[in-house]
Amino acid sequence: MTALKYTDAHCHTYEIDLVKLDGLGKLFELIVSVSDDAESSLKTLKLGERYKYIVPCVGIHPWSTNKENLDDELKLIEKLASTTDLRCLGEIGLDKAFVPETFNTQLKVFRRLLEIARDYDLAVNLHAANAWKQTFEEVLRYGIRRALFHWYSGPLDVLHELVARGYFISINPAVKISTRHLSVAKKVPTRALLFESDGPYLYRGLNLNPEMIPETVELLAVERNIEPSELVKITENNLMRFLGLDR
Ligand SMILES: [Zn+2]
Repeated sequence: MTALKYTDAHCHTYEIDLVKLDGLGKLFELIVSVSDDAESSLKTLKLGERYKYIVPCVGIHPWSTNKENLDDELKLIEKLASTTDLRCLGEIGLDKAFVPETFNTQLKVFRRLLEIARDYDLAVNLHAANAWKQTFEEVLRYGIRRALFHWYSGPLDVLHELVARGYFISINPAVKISTRHLSVAKKVPTRALLFESDGPYLYRGLNLNPEMIPETVELLAVERNIEPSELVKITENNLMRFLGLDR
């Protein structure tokens, strides 16, 4: 039997050192790698050229919108969307939990990025902390076809609405300690389910990184009374649909 290969739908790979990335190819079929600003977008694209398992996303994180050169950064993102074989924008979105003070700028930047995603038919890898419904509404308004709400911990009625639209939710290793995220993990239909690490990130003492995905799969497999290998297969297919690579 060949060893299972996993997928990670949302990881800040550019913050992981190359020695570690060299090894991750053995454990992962695909790691969707998000960026936080112009500089990290360029780094992530380079990693996509270097590693077959890395699918790069470029973008401007809502936490990175308090800058003076935003217009230049947005122009670069559009140029990358038009000149590379990019499949995805991310990490993009809205945040009312950690940086509510920049919300108006966030919204302007997010709308411009959604225009780019629409114009180039890109998937969007979304951050929507405490802004779940509004992020969902913006994505709908721009007619985005493929969207992933990363580390979803919003209201369950919005969860059902976005799943009904064919959008995806990614479950983070934080399910180990977060009862709120676990309640989402129990409710999300299998056809909308993805796994993510959001690594590298320190969350309440958990050192989130891609190597935590196997135990997260295990935990949900037990919860759903399904074989881990089956869950890996299903979520890999989901990820291919998210990326528009299933055709
Ligand atoms: Zn992230």
